[in-house]
Amino acid sequence: MSIILNPTREKSLLRRHPWVFASAVKHVDENPAPGSTVDLISSEGLFLARASYSPYSQIRARAWTFEDEPVDKEFFRVRIRQAIALRRMSKVEGQTNAYRLVHGESDGIPGLIVDRYDNVLVLQSLTAGSEFWKETLADILAEETGVQNIYERSDADVRELEGLKPITGILRGTITNPQLPITEYDLKFLVDIEHGHKTGFYLDQRENRHRVGELAKDRDVLNCFCYTGGFSIHALANGAKSVLSVDSSADALTLLEENIAFNRVRVPADRHTTLEGDVFQLLRKFRDANRSFDMIILDPPKFAPTAAHAEKASRAYKDINLLAFKLLRPGGILVTFSCSGGIDAALFQKIVASAALDAGTDATIIGHLSQGSDHPVSLHFPEGAYLKGLVCVKG
Ligand code: SAH
Repeated sequence: MSIILNPTREKSLLRRHPWVFASAVKHVDENPAPGSTVDLISSEGLFLARASYSPYSQIRARAWTFEDEPVDKEFFRVRIRQAIALRRMSKVEGQTNAYRLVHGESDGIPGLIVDRYDNVLVLQSLTAGSEFWKETLADILAEETGVQNIYERSDADVRELEGLKPITGILRGTITNPQLPITEYDLKFLVDIEHGHKTGFYLDQRENRHRVGELAKDRDVLNCFCYTGGFSIHALANGAKSVLSVDSSADALTLLEENIAFNRVRVPADRHTTLEGDVFQLLRKFRDANRSFDMIILDPPKFAPTAAHAEKASRAYKDINLLAFKLLRPGGILVTFSCSGGIDAALFQKIVASAALDAGTDATIIGHLSQGSDHPVSLHFPEGAYLKGLVCVKG
C-alpha cells in the first residue's frame, strides 16, 4: 500500500522529518486500515519512507523509517533497544528509578510514550500507528526491560484527532496499588499512575528540580503550579527557609502532603504551607498584600500547544512573570518555565525580558534549563524540544 505525495511535498521527508500533512497527499492507494504501514512515494515515483497511516488526522502519515526495510516486530525491537541504550548512556538510573524510556518521534517511534516507574511501565499510545502495533510493542517492552507490569494511560486529548477513544487499564501483569513509590535524587514520591496528570509524574523536570534544590538554601520559596510537590520537596530537603506551594488541583495537593510525610526524615513539614487556588489571582493578591519571596518557581501547564495559540499564551506568560518579578526581593531567583510547543526558547526569553522591564527591574540569566536527558530530541524533529526554562536573578 502506498501514498503518493504532491509535487515538492517530499522536502521535509528528505530532511528526515517524520510527519506528512494531509495537504501533501495526492493519492492513497488501496484504502489502508488506520495505523497500517504504507510506503510514501514522491510525485516522481521515488520511495521516501515507510510510515503509519492516520486517515482521520491532519498529520496523515508518520514515518517509521526512511530505509526500504520491513516494519515488523524485529524493527520495533531494535528501536526499543536503542531507546534503552540512550538512557543507559545518560546514566539516568544513577539519579532515579523513574524515567521516560520511549519519547515518541525522538526515539523513532511516533505516537509511543513509555515511562518507567520502578517495576511498572506506563504506556501511552497517541496515534493510529502506535495503536496498530500496541500489543507487539507491549510484548517487546516486557521482553527487553524484564518489567512485566504495564499500565496503559492512553487518555490524552490528542487521541481524538486520530479518531481514537481513550483507553486506560492494565495491559500486562498485575498492579495492585496504582500509587507507586519512586525515588528521585534520594527523595521519595508517590506517583498516581491511574489518576495523575500525563502518566502520573512530570519526569521531564527531574534535573531542574535538583537544580532548584541546589539554589533554595535559606530562601523563602513560592512554588507556583506545584502539582504533587516536586520542586517544593527538593527545596525543603536542601534547606529552604520556607516553601509555599500553590496549585488549583485539590488531588495534586493531597498527594503533595503525602509526599512531604513520605520524606519526613529529610523534609521539615513545619516549613511548608499548601495553598489551593488560581496562580493568576493569588499572585495579584500577594502583590496587593506586599508579600515577598527569595525564590519563585513558575511551571505552568501548556498555554500554547501550537504556534496558533502563541499570542494569547505570550500574554499569560508575561502576566505571571511580571507579577513574580514584583514579588521577588532584590537578589531573589526566578525559575520560570514554558512547556508550550508553540513558544520557542528565543520567544520565551523575550517574554520574560519584557516582564522584567514592565516590573521595572534588572534581571540576569544564570541558567538555561530544558527537559531531562531521558526526553531526548532528534535533530530531525526539533518539535521534540518543548521544555525551556530560565533561572534569573533579580537585580
Ligand atoms: N512543577 C510540577 C509540574 C507542574 S504541572 C512538578 O514538577 O511536578 C502544572 C500544574 O499546574 C498542574 O498541577 C495543574 O493542576 C496546575 N494548574 C493549572 N492551571 C492552574 C492555575 N491557573 N492555577 C494554579 N494551578 C494551576
